[in-house]
Amino acid sequence: MDTKKIINEEEIYRLLEGGNGVSKEETLEIIEKARDCYGLTLEEAAILLQIEDEDLLEALFHAARDVKIKIYGKRIVVFAPLYTSNECTNNCLYCGFRVANKNLHRKTLNVEEIVHEAQIIEKQGHKRVLLVCGEDNSKTHIDHIINGVKAIYERADIRRINVNAAPMEVNDFKKLKASGIGTYQIFQETYHRDTYKKMHPSGSKSDYDYRLTALQRALEAGIDDFGIGVLLGLYDYKFDVLATLMHSQYMEENYSVGPHTISIPRLRPANDSALEAAPYPVSDKDLKKIVAVYRLTVPYTGIILSTREAAFLRDELLNLGVSQISAGSKTSPGGYQQDDGEATQFQTSDERSLDEMLQVICRQGHLPSFCTACYRANRTGEAFMELAKDAHIHEFCQPNAILTFKENLIDCASDETKKQGEALIRKALEEIQNPKIKSITLQRLKEIQKGKRDLYF
Ligand code: SAM
Ligand code: SF4
Repeated sequence: MDTKKIINEEEIYRLLEGGNGVSKEETLEIIEKARDCYGLTLEEAAILLQIEDEDLLEALFHAARDVKIKIYGKRIVVFAPLYTSNECTNNCLYCGFRVANKNLHRKTLNVEEIVHEAQIIEKQGHKRVLLVCGEDNSKTHIDHIINGVKAIYERADIRRINVNAAPMEVNDFKKLKASGIGTYQIFQETYHRDTYKKMHPSGSKSDYDYRLTALQRALEAGIDDFGIGVLLGLYDYKFDVLATLMHSQYMEENYSVGPHTISIPRLRPANDSALEAAPYPVSDKDLKKIVAVYRLTVPYTGIILSTREAAFLRDELLNLGVSQISAGSKTSPGGYQQDDGEATQFQTSDERSLDEMLQVICRQGHLPSFCTACYRANRTGEAFMELAKDAHIHEFCQPNAILTFKENLIDCASDETKKQGEALIRKALEEIQNPKIKSITLQRLKEIQKGKRDLYF
C-alpha cells in the first residue's frame, strides 16, 4: 500500500503555508462556522493552527469550550493507566523503557500481579483502565495482553479496558478484539518521516509504515474503536497536528470511521532519555491551541489528557475541550502497589489523587464520569460517530455520568468530595431536558442508593 496516500507531507506544508497571513475577519468566520459542530476542513484547521493574535486565540478557546459542551455536555470521563510491562526491544530516544536504558528496573507483571494492580485502581473508584506495555515479543506478546484483559474483567469491577500497545498482525488484533477491549490506542509519535527515523533508530518500531497502517489491520480484525495521537515536542506541532487530522480524515473517508479519541501527550523527562530536551518545544499556550483546534476540527472525537501535564494547566485544558482525563496515575509496572521511580516510563506531573481530581472537576462545574456504557451498548465505530455527529450523545453522557459518579460517591469518595458531588448531581439532574430520561435517572439513583450497581443508558 502506498502510505503517502495516508500522509502526504508536501500537502501538509502546502496547507500550513496557505494558513499563513489570513485576515482576522476570515479567521473569525472559520471559528464561528465551527460552532455548528460540523467540523472543519484541513485548510481551515491549518488557518487556526497559525493563530498567534491574542484576541483570536480567546475566540478560538471560547468556541472550543462551547462545542465540547454542546456535544458531550459537561461530563469529563476519568480513567487510570495500568502498565503491565516495561520490557521493550525498541529504542525510542525519548522513552525510559528503551532497550538501551540499562539502569531501568525491568519487570513484566504476571496475571496475578496485573489483577492486583487493577483491584487497587478499582478501590480508588475507577471503572476504566488503559493497559500499557513495552514491546518485547517474548514478554509482551498478545497472550500477555489478552490474559491480563480477561483476568481483570473477571476479577475486578473494571468495566472498560482500553489498550495502548505496539502494532500487530490481523490475527493478533482479532484476539485482542475477542478479549473485549474498548479502544485500541496507538500514537504515530510523529508523522514526519525523517524525524520518525531519527527518533526510532532500531527495533520493530523503526518501521514507520507498519505503524501507520496498524489501524487498517485493526479494522480488518473488527476493532472499530481506535485512538490516535502524536508525541508533542518531537517535531513541529503544526505539522504533526495537521497530519493527525489528515490521518483521521483518511480513515473516515476510506473506512467510514474516524478516531474515537485523540491523545495529546507532550514530551516529558524520562530516566536515561537520549533527548536532553524536546527538539521542538511546545509551550502551554501552544498546547491550549492544539486542544481547541482538535475540538473544532473533529468535534465528535474525544480528547484525552494525561497526568503528563501540570495541575494548573490540566485545570485550564478541561475548559477547552478535553473530554477524558487520567487521574492518580503510575507509569511503572506494579506502580500502584509499590511505586518504583527507577521503573517509570516518564515523570508524571499532576500527582493529585483521583479523589482530589474529582473535587477539581466539580469545582469547575464539570461532571466527573466513570461511564463505560457506549461500547457495552454497541455504540461504537460508525454508530457512535453518527450519534456524536448529531450531537445526541450528551443525552446518554449526562445521565450516565450522574449514575456512575453517584456510585463513586457512595463507594469511595471522601466526605468533601461527597458534599461537592451531591450538589453537582442535583444541578446536573435539573439540566436533563428529556423528561423520560430524567425520571428514569431519578429512579436509578434510588436503586443505586439501595446498593444496585452498573445501571446505564
Ligand atoms: N510501547 C508501545 C508503543 O510505543 O506503541 C506502547 C505504548 S508506550 C508505553 C505509550 C506512549 O508513551 C508512547 O506511544 C509515547 O507517545 C509515550 N511516551 C513515551 N515516552 C514518553 C515521554 N518521555 N514523555 C511523554 N510521553 C512518552
Ligand atoms: Fe518501547 Fe513504546 Fe517506550 Fe518505544 S515508546 S521504547 S516502543 S515502550
